[in-house]
Amino acid sequence: DPLGLPLPDAHVLRALLAFAGVVPEEPGKYTCENCGAPFEVAPSSLLEIGPFTDGELDDPELDRPFDFHASHPIPALRVGRAVCRGVRLVERTVDEALPLLRLPADGALRITPSLVAAMGIAALGRERRAPVIADALARAPDEAWAAIVDLYHEARYPARLVAVHRCQGCGARNDLDVPLERELERAPLRAHEADPDGPAAAGVTAGAAGAFPDLDAFEARVRAAAERVYEARGVRNIDLFIDAGVPACDDGGEPLLGCYTPGTPADELGIARPPEIRIFYRTFRTEARDDPGFDVDAEIVETIDHEVTHHLHHLAGSDPLDDEEHEHIEREQRRRIGHAEALRRARRGALSDLGGFVRATWPAWLIAAVATALAWCEGGR
Ligand SMILES: [Zn+2]
Ligand SMILES: [Zn+2]
Repeated sequence: DPLGLPLPDAHVLRALLAFAGVVPEEPGKYTCENCGAPFEVAPSSLLEIGPFTDGELDDPELDRPFDFHASHPIPALRVGRAVCRGVRLVERTVDEALPLLRLPADGALRITPSLVAAMGIAALGRERRAPVIADALARAPDEAWAAIVDLYHEARYPARLVAVHRCQGCGARNDLDVPLERELERAPLRAHEADPDGPAAAGVTAGAAGAFPDLDAFEARVRAAAERVYEARGVRNIDLFIDAGVPACDDGGEPLLGCYTPGTPADELGIARPPEIRIFYRTFRTEARDDPGFDVDAEIVETIDHEVTHHLHHLAGSDPLDDEEHEHIEREQRRRIGHAEALRRARRGALSDLGGFVRATWPAWLIAAVATALAWCEGGR
């Protein structure tokens, strides 16, 4: 009975059916996190199914089961007369989650006690009564609600249900939720009224550490740090360029904090280029926004020092640090696409026969039953 499936299993099945085209998925609209270019893609079509089909679901990080015993930390919110900073979730089957799964696609989310039960929220802080939890959630600040939604996704969707889209413009890796349709949106609970100061002015830079430096202040800090690092490492004449444009990405699609380019000897016009260290302002800004513990000055020093190491290795004729970085990227890639699948691709450079797998592994009646039971996932509510 598909209704008795634990939600994560149902979502994996949903993702595989979308991947195989049994339950088609419409393309979603996205913007590249690094350069802002818009793109459209059906994320399930990019799912890496190797680990599922080859039984390689044993990665300590990607396949770690969600902890249903712990109280997971969230930004503070008021619950009844207490302030709570943790939430505990319990497992849910499709059946138990139906009040949530059957919500209309668009329309405001109304948080009721039955919705709290469907979400599987067992406790907010020490509070366990669903009506009190529902009240608290309905009034929760955005950051607290967003954290709870993220935890909900973590609990119901295995970490492997992600599509990696590489931006055609800048090469950045964009991780997309698979399947596209999810029962709880990663969006604020309430629409915001227009605010003349703008959410960016208030939200992005506010924090204990104060505002992120503007470009001029950032450049001054980078140059001061470089002077100290160059002296300590005994190097000079490496150009330092603070790049405020779209950050370059590494081979894995991660936007770089900095990069090193060796110099070139004089060409036929007699123009030689000195070696260069480039620091990407926007990557620093993004990191600082996403991680309140990001120490801008310490990271500037570490980045310059790292690039100086590349420089010295280059001068010495070989760069083991660069080799290490490439190996790391390849290792991460293999974990994600699966070891057997990586071998197959290396051998024949082709995709495996997915549709065949799905049809052979699950009998047709089960696929039909699940497709019907999960009709909510394609908006057929
Ligand atoms: Zn891009
Ligand atoms: Zn490096």
